[in-house]
Amino acid sequence: MTVLALDIGGTKFAVARVDADGTFLDRAEHPIGQSPTATLRGLVADFAGPGLTGVGIGSAGPIDTAAGAVSPINIPRWRDFPLVSTVRRFVPGVPVSLAGDAQCMALGEWWRGGHTCSSLLGIVVSTGVGGGLIIDGRPWTGRTGNAGHIGHVIVDRDGEPCVCGARGCLETIAGGPSMVRWALAKGWTSPGTGRPDARALAAAARGNAPIPLAAFRRAADALATAILNAAAVLDVHDIVIGGGVAAAGGLLLDPLRDAIAARAGMSYLRDLHLSVTTLDRDAGLYGAAALALIESGEPLRRAS
Ligand SMILES: [Zn+2]
Repeated sequence: MTVLALDIGGTKFAVARVDADGTFLDRAEHPIGQSPTATLRGLVADFAGPGLTGVGIGSAGPIDTAAGAVSPINIPRWRDFPLVSTVRRFVPGVPVSLAGDAQCMALGEWWRGGHTCSSLLGIVVSTGVGGGLIIDGRPWTGRTGNAGHIGHVIVDRDGEPCVCGARGCLETIAGGPSMVRWALAKGWTSPGTGRPDARALAAAARGNAPIPLAAFRRAADALATAILNAAAVLDVHDIVIGGGVAAAGGLLLDPLRDAIAARAGMSYLRDLHLSVTTLDRDAGLYGAAALALIESGEPLRRAS
């Protein structure tokens, strides 16, 4: 059984042919270019062939899983773009499934990340903060396909307005640009030229600059609140963090572990297993492959 996994990112598309054991048979990635639809058609044509039993797609959001449509923020030519029906036309007769990129990251981690619990919360801390849930071995996407969206858990009800329309969402504190904005407002000046980003903030924090360090502690504190709230409701044990801001490693993870340990109440929240993704960018491709395998009725065999 061979499935095609597609990862629709903001700047490039990745594709892999994956078998039921999670082995990548071949793979490629391509910048989106001027015509995203033509790029996609070319990639699928190169990899589709006889014996393909399904296509799984993880896409940057917002997405509408009921309509099979996506509107990735960094792909302005795709607004309510009918991604599922478009890919179906490229591979007639093959089932096509779609989920959000963070949901695919969580599913990929659950399947191939070496975890053993039946449930897992995956969190992507990047420009935005996304997430995905696996509950009892199944992706839990909810009524509208948005379950797991931990970036919009409210951690400060009097906080900054969020792009979503609410106030004080986790993303307004822990998203990369939000951290940078907060540090700049507190008087941090980036030593580099141009607009500072989360990477520059992390470099400054590694050099023990107090405001950047405080920005990471503040983000970690907000993440701890959201994680403890989610874990209290869901009773998940494995929490896996990925994304560009999480690549700062201990800068974020150490204060996050401390905050969770200091504030966890119920006994089942005191032994949360927090880790950083070991699959990096491939977590999304593994997750997209897993989606297609689930759709075709194939039980997921986890890495031991
Ligand atoms: Zn929000």
